[in-house]
Amino acid sequence: MVAIKQRIVTIDGPSGGGKSTVSRALAVKLRFTYLDTGAMYRAVAFQCRQQGVDPADDHRLETLLSTFRMELLPPDPGEDDVRVLIDGQEMGSQLRTPEMGMLASQVSALPQVRQTLTRLQREIGAGGRIVAEGRDTGTVVFPGAVWKFFLDASPEVRARRRAAQLRNKGELVDERQLLAQIIQRDRDDRERPIAPLMAALDALTIDSTGLSVDEVVRQMYDRVLAVSCCGEK
Ligand code: C5P
Repeated sequence: MVAIKQRIVTIDGPSGGGKSTVSRALAVKLRFTYLDTGAMYRAVAFQCRQQGVDPADDHRLETLLSTFRMELLPPDPGEDDVRVLIDGQEMGSQLRTPEMGMLASQVSALPQVRQTLTRLQREIGAGGRIVAEGRDTGTVVFPGAVWKFFLDASPEVRARRRAAQLRNKGELVDERQLLAQIIQRDRDDRERPIAPLMAALDALTIDSTGLSVDEVVRQMYDRVLAVSCCGEK
């Protein structure tokens, strides 16, 4: 089946590769909406923890997924992270801890969770003009996206960057533990049977190891301008 072309940018890649910073900056430059799909998986993980739902319990998970209402709002001025509201209540920085990342990776391997969030993401992106960031946005969620990128970097560089981000927020960081978590999460995300982390065949892979955020954004922006969308010049 040939996917209908959509005016959407997808940026997939492993954790800590700088996807969020780059996606946000590119969205601002293009005047597109930034869609942080990882935040949605983190929110489901957080809800499971809050409500004491064992993700392996299909029935309770189904109830949780069919009853909660999730909203994504742009970051507060001066802040980086998209705001996530569940049933009208703001989730805050508790979603962004390394532990919640690990739990999100576990729940994201479950078919029910992926179906629900993929459907929501497609609804959000239906009108186009989206920069979607995640693990499967170019392969599964928006196969018809016109501009697809896969952003990679070595695990060591990613751990160092993530450590710096967390320290900036005043958190104590054990960089070796962070590296171990990144390697484990990459493996889980790449090896899961549904929607594994991988580059779409038509994605441009960028290794950000030796590049600044501005350089990566520039490369992507240039490509968006160079590749026309939906019959336009
Ligand atoms: O990007 P972030 O680190 O916030 O994502 C948390 C976890 O959510 C990832 O490790 C991954 O397992 C999962 N995820 C996913 N598909 C996406 C986005 C995130 O499976 N599109």
